[in-house]
Amino acid sequence: ELVENSIDAGASTVSVTFKDGGLKLIQVPDDGHGIRCEDLPILCERHTTSKLSAYEDLQTIKSMGFRGEALASMTYVGHVTVTTITEGQLHGYRVSYRDGVMENDPKPCAAVKGTQVMVENLFYNMVARRKTLENSNDDYPKIVDFISRFAVHHINVNFSCRKHGANRADVHSGSTSSRLDAIRNVYGASVVRDLMEIQVSDENAVDEIFKMDGFISNANYVAKKTTMILFINDRLVDCTSLKRATEFVYSAILPQASKPFIYMSINLPPEHVDVNIHPTKKEVSLLNQERIIEKIKDAIEEKLMNCNNTRIFQTQA
Ligand code: ADP
Ligand code: MG
Repeated sequence: ELVENSIDAGASTVSVTFKDGGLKLIQVPDDGHGIRCEDLPILCERHTTSKLSAYEDLQTIKSMGFRGEALASMTYVGHVTVTTITEGQLHGYRVSYRDGVMENDPKPCAAVKGTQVMVENLFYNMVARRKTLENSNDDYPKIVDFISRFAVHHINVNFSCRKHGANRADVHSGSTSSRLDAIRNVYGASVVRDLMEIQVSDENAVDEIFKMDGFISNANYVAKKTTMILFINDRLVDCTSLKRATEFVYSAILPQASKPFIYMSINLPPEHVDVNIHPTKKEVSLLNQERIIEKIKDAIEEKLMNCNNTRIFQTQA
């Protein structure tokens, strides 16, 4: 949610830092447009959003946020401190929040550009939840995975992700104008070597308009696990049936049971996407889903058949 807020604020650099998988500290500084001082008192109240000005906006919403829930809910389970400066100001402001309200008046402070949101001691007041999270050490890799996916989609934003105090970033995407460069910076040159561009559109259909752009691995790509980076209308989502269908095409065409690398960006009318099938809203279902999946499957099949002819066989020792 914090990273999405930074993107909504037009940031071109987002550098996230984590301590103890985020339990001790989550720090998200960006160089976006910042938050005006007069908005700080209500910033963390529920339903505070700057992303809707008219009710009709709900139908055409382009930003990722609009419900005004993220910052508010964080202040109920952690200590949130916001440092921010807007353009043309000589200094910024810093203010901390608890349970939706400011703990003190905003204090003037030095700031460069944009906003830094810091969340400390997450779930300090929910002992059982904190315990469960303390015992799981797989949260940081999940964060790295998440930032990596964002970096592949938002190629003009320079993302980095590191553990607090570490010199080296675990993700460093750079900012680029080429999708392949972004994938190379995050997933490595060996992945990019085996990618093919793919495009599908169905703009002639009357009742359904969709476009897909992406990159998919070819027959030479070898991996044990599928990487599926799926953005629908610029939101990072999962769509299990699309993933299964894609894996099915690969297993049917490629003799070796290698799992694919897939990046897909699908755009379709917002009213065709149902995000309410899962509580986290990350798993979606689509109107005319079967048709869309069928079209995408056909396109992947065609790409794979063509590249299969020029496949490089490696002999086993
Ligand atoms: P939403 O994103 O749904 O509007 P949030 O609780 O995530 O709700 O954020 C509330 C509001 O705070 C946003 O609408 C935005 O105006 C402001 N905001 C939050 N984070 C940032 C940021 N990094 N830069 C600028 N404004 C921000
Ligand atoms: Mg938000």
